[in-house]
Amino acid sequence: MKNLDKAGQPLKFAAASKNYIMFLLAVILLSLFSLNHLHAQKITINTVDYKFTEQDTTALNRLVRFEAHLYNGLFNNIIPDSLPVVVNLYKSHKLFLQVCNARKGIMLPGGFYSPQTQECYVYKDGNYFSVILHEVSHRFMHYHNYITVPRWINEGLSAFCESLYVNDNGGVYVDEQTSRLRRVKDYFKENRLDISQFLSRETNDAWNRKDDITLRYDVAYSIVYFMIKNNPQYVKQVLTALQDHSDSYAALGLAYGSYENFDKKFRLFYR
Ligand SMILES: [Zn+2]
Repeated sequence: MKNLDKAGQPLKFAAASKNYIMFLLAVILLSLFSLNHLHAQKITINTVDYKFTEQDTTALNRLVRFEAHLYNGLFNNIIPDSLPVVVNLYKSHKLFLQVCNARKGIMLPGGFYSPQTQECYVYKDGNYFSVILHEVSHRFMHYHNYITVPRWINEGLSAFCESLYVNDNGGVYVDEQTSRLRRVKDYFKENRLDISQFLSRETNDAWNRKDDITLRYDVAYSIVYFMIKNNPQYVKQVLTALQDHSDSYAALGLAYGSYENFDKKFRLFYR
C-alpha cells in the first residue's frame, strides 16, 4: 500500500538539467546493482473503464524494467521475464473500494499489493503512476523475499521507486521526495522521532495505525534515501543481513560500523 505524497502525473517531465544529479543517481544505482543482462520485464495492466495510451504503456514498461533490474541487483538473482507483473487499475472508486474489501486491502487512498493474488490494485487518481511503481516494487520484493524483511525496508524501497520517471528522451530519472524529507527533519525538531523505537515497532498493527501512518512511510523512505546517498551498496548489505535473520539494528550496524554510528549520522543528515 502507499501513502500518497507526491503529486506526480504520468509523462509530466521535469527539465533534464534540473534533475541531472538524480539522473546520475539512477545510473549509479543501476551500474552498482544490475549485473545481469538487459531483459524485457513486461507489465500487464488490466483497466476498468479506462484505456492506457501506448505512450503510457511504453513509459511504464521502461520504469518497471528499471525496478526489476534494481531488485535483481539487490538480491543477486534474476527475476524471470515470465514473472507476471499485473496491475488492476480502477477508474471507478466504488469498484476499487469493493476490491479493497474483497481482498482485505488496507483502506489507504492509492492502492495495495495482494500477496494472495500476487497482483497490484490501484485507483486511478492523479498519483496513480507513482502508486503503480510503489505496488510493483512490493511485487518484486515478494518474488525475492517478502516474508523475512522488515516492513520499513520494504515500504522504504517502494516509496523510493514512487519517484522514478521517464524523460522525453526515454531516460529513467529518480526524483527526491522533498516533502517527505522535510517532514522527517520536522519530526526530529518536534521530538516526535526516536529511530531506535521506530525500528522496534515492526508489527502490522503499528503499520496500520492511522495516526502516525505518514510518519512511518516518511521515515522508511528517509532511511532508504539516506543509505543510497551515503553508498548504494549499504542497501544491499543491510538487505543481505536481514535475509540472514539479523535484526534491523545489527543489519544497519554492519553497514555503518555500529548501529550507534548509523543513528548519529542519520540524525546529523536530517537536522
Ligand atoms: Zn507499500
